[in-house]
Amino acid sequence: MNYEYTEEFRKELVEWFNREKRDLPWRHTIDPYKIWVSEVMLQQTRVDTVIPYYNRFVEKFPTPQTFAYAPEEDILKMWEGLGYYSRVRNLQAGVREVVETYGGVVPNNRVDISKLKGVGPYTAGAVLSIAYGRPEHAVDGNVMRVLSRVLHIYDDIALPKTKKIFEEAVTELIDPNNASSFNQGLMELGALICTPTSPKCLLCPVREYCRAFEAGDATELPVKTKKTKMKNLHYKVYIVRDNEGRYLLEKRDANGLLANMWQFPMIEMKKGEDALNKLIQQYDVKVKVKHGTVLTFKHIFSHLTWHIEAELVEGEATNDEKFFTREQIERLPMPVPMLKIWNEIK
Ligand code: SF4
Repeated sequence: MNYEYTEEFRKELVEWFNREKRDLPWRHTIDPYKIWVSEVMLQQTRVDTVIPYYNRFVEKFPTPQTFAYAPEEDILKMWEGLGYYSRVRNLQAGVREVVETYGGVVPNNRVDISKLKGVGPYTAGAVLSIAYGRPEHAVDGNVMRVLSRVLHIYDDIALPKTKKIFEEAVTELIDPNNASSFNQGLMELGALICTPTSPKCLLCPVREYCRAFEAGDATELPVKTKKTKMKNLHYKVYIVRDNEGRYLLEKRDANGLLANMWQFPMIEMKKGEDALNKLIQQYDVKVKVKHGTVLTFKHIFSHLTWHIEAELVEGEATNDEKFFTREQIERLPMPVPMLKIWNEIK
C-alpha cells in the first residue's frame, strides 16, 4: 500500500471535519464515559434517534458511579426503543468494572480498555482517540467504506479478518496530532459524503487522493458478500384484559433476544395449531370475549423478522399476579413491537 499523500490527506480531512461537522451533543464533551455511552448507543442506531436518548441518559446518569449500580429495570426503561438491549447491560457491566477496578476513570490505553465488558476494537479506538486524543484506529462500516474507496481495497468486508487490513491502514494514516478529528472525520465523511449508493464525490475534501474516484468505480466498493438469509417467525400476540381493566404480561427469559423485557403473551403460529388454545393452556387463561385483531405488522431485527398479529380478548387467569394496571405497564421496559401494540390499545 502506498501512502504517498498521507500529510495532505490528513490535513484536508481534519480541516473539513472541523469546518463541516454536525453539532451533536456528544461532540461538546471529551468525558470518556460520555463518549463511551454515545458510541454504544450509535452502534446499529441512527444519529437522529440517539440524540434524545443520549441527552436523557447523561442527565440521569452523569457519571460512571451514578450508572454502575442502577437497577436493571431502570436502565432498560432508559434504553426502551433503541433495541439491542444487551448493549446497555454490557455497558453497565463495563462501567462497573471502571468504578471498581480503575477508581471511576476509564482506562486510557488499548490493553486495559479492551478488557472491559462490551468494549470491542472499535469502541476502544473511538474512546481513546476522541476522549484522550490517542492515535488509535476506530474502524466501523463508514470507515471501511471510505477507505476501501480511497485506497482501492477490494477485500470482502463481510469477512472478520478484513477489518485488520483497515485497522492497519488507519494506523498508518491517522494524524497523531489530531487523532480525534481524523477518526471522526472519516466517520463523518462516510455518513455525509461518501455514502453507500451515491457518493457526493464533487463535494468530497479528499477527492484528489481517492483511487476509486480516479477509476470511476466508487459504487462498486466496498466488496461485501450477501448476509445469510433472514428468518421469518409468525406470532399471535394476545392482549388479555381482565374485568378490572388490567392486562396480562410476562417477562422474557433472562438470556437471548430482548432478555428481561416485558411483553404480552406471544404464541408462535405453526401449521395445524390453534393459537388461542395454546394461550389458554400455557397461560392458564379463561377467555370470555374475543374482540378480534387490533393490529398486524412486522418487526425486523438484524437476523430475523417477526410477523405479528395482535388480538384483544377479555379474560381472566388463575394467577392474579400476572395482571398489570396501565400505570404499572408504563413503568416496565417493553421492546418496540410491544410498545406499538400498547400504544394502539391505549
Ligand atoms: Fe468517497 Fe467519492 Fe470522496 Fe472517494 S471521492 S472518498 S468515493 S466521496
